[in-house]
Amino acid sequence: MNPIRLFDSHCHLDDPDYDDDRKAVLERAKQAGVCAVMIAGIDRKTSEKALSIAWRHPMVFSSVGFHPHDVKSCREEDLDHLKALAHDPRVRAWGEIGLDFNRMYSPVSDQENGLIRQLEIADELNLPVIFHERESGGRLIAILKRHHRHPGNGVIHCFSGSPAELETYVDMGYAIGITGILTIRERGKALRDMLPSIPLDRMLIETDAPYLTPAPQKNRFRRNEPAFVRTVLETIAHILDMPLPQLAETIWQNTCKLYHIDPDADHLRLTGN
Ligand SMILES: [Zn+2]
Ligand SMILES: [Zn+2]
Repeated sequence: MNPIRLFDSHCHLDDPDYDDDRKAVLERAKQAGVCAVMIAGIDRKTSEKALSIAWRHPMVFSSVGFHPHDVKSCREEDLDHLKALAHDPRVRAWGEIGLDFNRMYSPVSDQENGLIRQLEIADELNLPVIFHERESGGRLIAILKRHHRHPGNGVIHCFSGSPAELETYVDMGYAIGITGILTIRERGKALRDMLPSIPLDRMLIETDAPYLTPAPQKNRFRRNEPAFVRTVLETIAHILDMPLPQLAETIWQNTCKLYHIDPDADHLRLTGN
């Protein structure tokens, strides 16, 4: 039987919550078939730490960027610093950037200006973008239409929008990141209903660990971790009534394509799986 290959396309393994057992967490991920992991930066410090973890573990890649929550503290010199980091071959995306009008930790004007500025940088560096969107009321789409010079070169991570927004993202060419929310009875219903509308070649899976632990793991474990991305995959396969290996391989290829990673690179092979 062919081993399945999974890519946790978005997590925060730099979180201090993993400082004591990060190696064991990655080991468990491999045992679940996870061959690669993307750690998304949310500010200067986390972007640096994400990259330093990627240096130590061949299966880990990183992005750099300022999250909408943190963007109010972002100075131009921070962006210059991240731009310099982005030349490292282990940095494969810019993000997570976007708009979050749910929590509103940064004022709307800071969020929108920070997003537009970082889109310019990502375009200049020709990097795919990881987008975070919550309740922006169509503002993210409006800004992407005006300011993303490479529309479609990115992923709407932890997609939580409406069917109309989903259709627009797909039409524009973006990939859609599915988290463990899919597995949650009440909270995941809308996402389960929209799942068949996501073209298979645009679908990515992610944990967003340490947040959003899928069911049933959420009843047993304090925090989420990349190994649990397998539950997201299994849930999608069940809903779409698809063979798991075929779906896994499609999503693996989608993710490698987005992040410009060789899907058959030797260092991403699981031994003994
Ligand atoms: Zn996010
Ligand atoms: Zn995140």
